[in-house]
Amino acid sequence: MKIYKEGEKSKALCEKCEGLVKTTFEVRNVPFSSGKGRAKDVLVGVCDKCDSVVSIPQQSVPRVKEQREKLYKPIEARIPRHFYDMLRFSYSKLGIHGTEEVAPIVKYYTLNLNILSERAKLKKIKNSDLFKGKSSERVSMKLSESIYNEFVGIKNKLGISNTELIKTFIIQFYEDVESNKASSRVKKLKQVLRVAS
Ligand SMILES: [Zn+2]
Repeated sequence: MKIYKEGEKSKALCEKCEGLVKTTFEVRNVPFSSGKGRAKDVLVGVCDKCDSVVSIPQQSVPRVKEQREKLYKPIEARIPRHFYDMLRFSYSKLGIHGTEEVAPIVKYYTLNLNILSERAKLKKIKNSDLFKGKSSERVSMKLSESIYNEFVGIKNKLGISNTELIKTFIIQFYEDVESNKASSRVKKLKQVLRVAS
């Protein structure tokens, strides 16, 4: 890897100037590709003509990544062991073997459940026998700020805790896979999970 120094000259493609331009490495604040927030004090290549940031050298990537991670919100919970069994079983029924990851399920159901129409069903899960059990296993995940906010919104609408919502999603996943393998939700889920795994 080539290490660049502040003030060093180089060349890069500039979109704005539509061509190869001379650049200078400078320390700048760079917006994240999501458009939300920015990484501070990152060494980047700046176009000498138009002053835009045109390159991020390899050496700056960890700094950008670390700062982007901070925008992620952590969620911690404890769930009974059989929830991991349900996850593993359902994933494997979808043809995704050797995983019991919770985060993709939480993200998927946060974004795809219609709380208004499914509220009663979701509340019913909480009273089911499957829901019970000693919460001996730790769950830890990070959600992007936008998904986290959605998650909290659903949790509040249902009047349950983080842990209860995670458990509800896992049971919903299990039931979706068990009951109707051809349903559009499971088909979509399968596509999403394949891409994610
Ligand atoms: Zn330029």
